Amino acid sequence: MESCIPPKNHIIIIFDILIKDYSLQTIIYNFLFGVFGVCPSCGVENCFKIHSNYFKYYYWERIQILVLYCKECKKFHAVIPSFSLPGTSLGSQEVEQLYIGVNNNQTYLEAGKGLLENGISEDHLGYIVNKTIPRMINHMQTMFPGPRQTSEANYAAIAYDGLEYIEYFLRPDTCEQFILKINSYCLSHQVNAIFCSRYNIINFTKRKSGVYNSNKITPSSGDGIALDST
Ligand SMILES: [Zn+2]
Repeated sequence: MESCIPPKNHIIIIFDILIKDYSLQTIIYNFLFGVFGVCPSCGVENCFKIHSNYFKYYYWERIQILVLYCKECKKFHAVIPSFSLPGTSLGSQEVEQLYIGVNNNQTYLEAGKGLLENGISEDHLGYIVNKTIPRMINHMQTMFPGPRQTSEANYAAIAYDGLEYIEYFLRPDTCEQFILKINSYCLSHQVNAIFCSRYNIINFTKRKSGVYNSNKITPSSGDGIALDST
């Protein structure tokens, strides 16, 4: 298996695992036992082969990421561990705690304790809460309208926002692990994981231009290719 630089067109496969249990060998072991059976892009079973690996940052640590190749749809898939927020060096759990905490009236210092302990600046906490996560929720609402489906007009006032939307969407679950749950939901509906920091196109299926009118998302004119999901 060759090492590679993170390509720009990875689709994510999320693997639920704790950092203490994580290694490239563990992921390969799970692959060999058929854990990653269905391709999230084309839905075909048992069509993956191991392609390569690359390094991704988890805070200041570098972790090895396995890349699978789907022989059916010819797309690459990065197996991202659930504790690592796709497209960033942040931890998923700490970002969830920050967002939920601030929405429940905790201070940034309280809610962001986990991130601050890992060397993330206080300024960055505000950016995550006020920019990054609302942007992801906006994308989510565009792809999976939820409460807006009952609205007469497509772009009527949003009934729920932020944490309310997440709670609505995940019910009857709690918001715990909302990033993992939302990303897993997306992948099972042929949409790449929403909670990535860098991407342009998120739908795997062919769509006619104009289906998504949101000014936040530019639909692909052709095949919905994967996005940068490293
Ligand atoms: Zn495929």
